[in-house]
Amino acid sequence: MKFAAKIALAIAALAMLATPAMAQKTVKWKLAMTWPATLTPLASPPAKVAKMVEEMSGGTFVIKVEGKEKHKAPLGILDMVKGGQYQMGHSGSYYWKGKDISTIFFTTIPFGMTTAEQYAWFYYDDGMKYMQQVYDRFKVLNFPGGNTGVQMGGWFKKEINSLDDLKGLKMRIPGLAGEVFAKLGVNVTNIPAGELYTSLDRGTIDALEWVGPGMDIKMGFHKVAPFYYTGWHEPASEMQFLINKRAYEKLSAEHKAILQTAMKAAAADMYYENFAASANAWEKMKTDFPNIKVKTFPLPVLKAMKKATDELLDTYAAKDAQFKEILDSQRTFMKKARQWSVISDYNYIKTSMDVE
Ligand code: CA
Repeated sequence: MKFAAKIALAIAALAMLATPAMAQKTVKWKLAMTWPATLTPLASPPAKVAKMVEEMSGGTFVIKVEGKEKHKAPLGILDMVKGGQYQMGHSGSYYWKGKDISTIFFTTIPFGMTTAEQYAWFYYDDGMKYMQQVYDRFKVLNFPGGNTGVQMGGWFKKEINSLDDLKGLKMRIPGLAGEVFAKLGVNVTNIPAGELYTSLDRGTIDALEWVGPGMDIKMGFHKVAPFYYTGWHEPASEMQFLINKRAYEKLSAEHKAILQTAMKAAAADMYYENFAASANAWEKMKTDFPNIKVKTFPLPVLKAMKKATDELLDTYAAKDAQFKEILDSQRTFMKKARQWSVISDYNYIKTSMDVE
């Protein structure tokens, strides 16, 4: 056989080997988000996953992302993914606490772990194991979907000087933190993002929490509620990717690997995006909006919040064995992780400020 013919045969053989992956049938999925498509950085991870998945799969795996303006069911994501109307969803795990209280652990809990501590618990301790266990009853898979980092404690029309100032206050605050405030006499409510400013402006509520300066300033809350409190209740809010289990199982091994990689990269990227947005907004805030008064809740108020948080967690643990197991796992891991956070990040920041 001539050399050229041998080469041609070798190329043909290679082409045949490559055929199974190349000829992969195009998979078309739909993803529903809790957020409007424009609400970055919360809406960023799904768009990034869709782009990465399409590129990495050579166009054989396509995900169409729909914001809440399209499906009109921001708090129906879990049901829609479970039912198979959407193969994927992007939301926040603690929105499903009415279906299963253990879902709160995969977003954040008041006085809980920081972002680094929580990611370590997810990926290198038992977090992911419990995440799948809790979501198994819904026949969906759950994966980390992007972190906001420490959220601010919210916007208040009046300064909070004592526990008495919380009594009768009307506030929008979701998750377990809402239950904590309710225990302290606050009238707690949850209001969709689009109505927050109007509710605060018209006095339907006296206070609200949203995310942090990167997202809050754009909403204009500071114009009607100038007291901006530092955080205690959402130290590391993680978004979530939900996947219909049957749809996932039908994927090829390549598509599964591509999707997993894209979700992990997009989740990490949201943390960087929000950190940058908040750093930029915080810097501008001092010059552009000098009326904003940054405050930390008085220590007796914070201590009452911590006590109420522990009481709520222990009450749920006494009623629910799975909740207790996950709470114990988080508490054990956090105790160890926090010692390292203190000696590394906390101590380093203090040291670098001391030498200024
Ligand atoms: Ca929040």
